[in-house]
Amino acid sequence: MLNPKEIQDLRDKHLGPSLSLSYKQPIHIVRGAGQYLFDADGTKYLDCVNNIQHVGHSHPRITSAARKQYQNLNTNTRYLDDTIVRYAQNITNTLPAGLDVCFFTNSGSESNDLALRLARNFTKSKQTIVLDSAYHGHLSSLIEISPYKHAGPGGTGAPDFVHTIPVPDPYRGKHRGSECTEGYVQEVQRAIDSIQSKNLRPSALIVEAIMGCGGQILLPPGFLNSAFELVQRAGGVCIADEVQIGFGRVGSHFWGFETHGVIPDIVTMGKPMGNGHPLSAVVTTRVIAHAFDNGMEYFNSFGGNPVSCAIGQAVLDIIRDEDLQSNALDVGLHLLIQLNALKSKHDLIGDVRGVGLFIGIELVKDRNTLEPANEEVDYIINKMKDKGILLSKDGPNHNVIKIKPPLVFTKENADFLVKQLDDTLASHKL
Ligand code: PMP
Repeated sequence: MLNPKEIQDLRDKHLGPSLSLSYKQPIHIVRGAGQYLFDADGTKYLDCVNNIQHVGHSHPRITSAARKQYQNLNTNTRYLDDTIVRYAQNITNTLPAGLDVCFFTNSGSESNDLALRLARNFTKSKQTIVLDSAYHGHLSSLIEISPYKHAGPGGTGAPDFVHTIPVPDPYRGKHRGSECTEGYVQEVQRAIDSIQSKNLRPSALIVEAIMGCGGQILLPPGFLNSAFELVQRAGGVCIADEVQIGFGRVGSHFWGFETHGVIPDIVTMGKPMGNGHPLSAVVTTRVIAHAFDNGMEYFNSFGGNPVSCAIGQAVLDIIRDEDLQSNALDVGLHLLIQLNALKSKHDLIGDVRGVGLFIGIELVKDRNTLEPANEEVDYIINKMKDKGILLSKDGPNHNVIKIKPPLVFTKENADFLVKQLDDTLASHKL
């Protein structure tokens, strides 16, 4: 096995320098099991951040489903095959009626790019409404609609067909308190007005019902409902990006958008869908899918292959058989209650928010000015790593600790996390 220095040297030599590593002292992970990771020295870490390994690292049923299907067949989608149609049927069964046509892809980015193509084709417009700080993927088309990237370091800003509304963040956003929801709804209306003033129509509003990279933001109640209504009335379609939050993570529902009682026209999914296998999808209505069938074939070499679909089916089966959505609800609530108790003990915690096992802790230097506590977040994340707990940070101010573990996370894991966080917050000295 290579030692850390040798790996680092080879990374420097052969991998793109814009790839980053977590932690000041990076860790050399060699094995995963459930919610745990193990480094080359055998140190065990509690994984509180990997929302891709949804049903747990190295789940034996995933390995076995993959092996069984690989041994038998792996082809593209141009043959009759049970696996893809059964899986498509089961995915659409988790969604509201009407969302019943699937396109299978290989990453969240591919799904969002295809969603944009579907929307642009259907509306004959490119005018896209996005939320500030949102991230929807790494393809060129998605950097254009992701303020998280194009408005950040190295970015070149939004193209003129992209209309950005301020982050609907009830904690530190532009509109707060009793005016919060209406303030952001008006922002959507203004974006539509601006599009219409050029004699154009909106193509799409693309949103995460709970923002991930934007800093674990819970959108104000009622916002999404009104925003969807406005966009749809103006002839646009609504895309729910469920790449981070889907598949039962939010606990109360299988899909994040369901927590707002809305029905999107297009849903994109990825990350947890294949538990680490590159599997993703776009699901839409028959009408939108048919409009896209304009003579140009949609072919995807790997998307929807039998191995991917067998793995995706195993993920769905495990979520059901191990009751992981209920677990996300129970353990998430237990964790949120305790984190809120920590907030009353430690002034550094400005806000605790989340649903199910998708939680954010925003650290501030001052609860009145909300000055972001960036160095403190870095200190805490690195200290927690030394104590065997893996966390990450995000948000436009890089001051939100993210908790989004595999859904097999237990109440004992939550208690351990809270205890260590309590001690670390108490002891932090910069
Ligand atoms: N949408 C959201 C909300 C995401 O968080 C991500 C990845 N962080 C993507 C899309 C892109 O997914 P992928 O990295 O699989 O291309």
